[in-house]
This record gives sequence, structure tokens and C-alpha cells, in this order.
Amino acid sequence: MRGLRRLSSSEGIHQFIHLWQQIQSVQLNNEPDQIKWRFTVDGVYSSRSAYEVQFRGSYSDYQWDKIWKLKVESKCNFFLRLLLQYKILTSDRILKRGGQANPICQLCRTTTESIPHMAANCSYSQSVWTHVEHLTGQQNLSQATPIQSMKIWWSYLMNTRTERTQLATYTIWNIWKERCRRVYDNKASTALQLAHVIQQDVAVLQLARTQQE
Ligand SMILES: [Zn+2]
Repeated sequence: MRGLRRLSSSEGIHQFIHLWQQIQSVQLNNEPDQIKWRFTVDGVYSSRSAYEVQFRGSYSDYQWDKIWKLKVESKCNFFLRLLLQYKILTSDRILKRGGQANPICQLCRTTTESIPHMAANCSYSQSVWTHVEHLTGQQNLSQATPIQSMKIWWSYLMNTRTERTQLATYTIWNIWKERCRRVYDNKASTALQLAHVIQQDVAVLQLARTQQE
């Protein structure tokens, strides 16, 4: 216990006691040391498991495996994960963190910006979703009533065929890019122009995937 005299703070003493308790359950043997990654069953590191660990505890309520398997570009997949966890920096979140932002949605310029608003509830976004429906023949992409939960909304869009999920992913991705162009570059496209871009994006994606197979 002589070493304890070197601990000058109660925080240090607490850490020492915690460590001491942890060590009590460790039994050493003569086998050589091994490095194991404890977040996979086989103990082998994978970047996917490392990524999943970051969100551990925050998303056990959702089927994230399905999102991993979406046949879309990884940048869109990554964006989608952030979006569904309310981690995209819309102006309401920037202001909440003490940053500076115009609180008004730059897509409709009528109400405050939030993630559900930008994604589905905004009149501009609704118009984009509707144009995408008309251009592609996919039905029920747009929402008749305002969405409350991003995850429930996305489950509804995702639990169907690949092409529909690709369209939904590229629609929300392009709505976000349009929002950023308006906020940072002062450039704007109409909802119909954006719907054509989305249709084109998905066509290019599908062509690329066909050539890979
Ligand atoms: Zn809006």
C-alpha cells in the first residue's frame, strides 16, 4: 500500500481501486500472448465491426444489417446511417450546439430546418419525391402525412425491392446535396431538375453494377 501515498487526488485513488478490482479476476498462464478483437465472433478485426462499435448501444433498435447490404455507393450508405441517427448537421442541430446558422429551411424558405423536415416533410422535398415517382414509375415514395421518426420512415421505404431502395437512397442524398448547394454555394435547382439528376444517378449505378456482375 506504500504506492498509494503517491496518489494525490481522490480521482486517482478511485482509478487505482477500480484497476485493482479488475486485476483480481485475471489469471495468468504460460501461453504466449495473443491479440484478439473482441467485437467479432472469431476475434479477427474487420473495418465493418469497428464501424459498428462506434454506434453500439445507440441503435440496437434498428436493422442496420439491411443498410449495410444496400446496393448503393458507400458514400450514400454512410450518409444514410448518419441521417437515420440524426447526425447530419441541419441548422437546428448547428444552433443547438451553439453554432451559427440560418434556421430557415433553404429548400422551401418557409419554416425551420430539421432532419425530418429536410428529408420528407418540406414542400420542396415532397415535390422531389413526387417527381421521382412519376419519372420512374415507383409508387408511394412520397409521404401523405408528416414523418415523425426517421427510422420508421426509412423502414417503410427500405423493405421492398432493390431498385426502390436505390431510388430512395439517391433521392434523399440529392435532396441533401441540393440543400448544401443552396446554403453554401447559393445555387438552386428546381424539384423536377433534381428528380432528373436522381433518375440519372440510379441509372448510372445500375449500369455500373451490371458491368461488375
Ligand atoms: Zn423546407
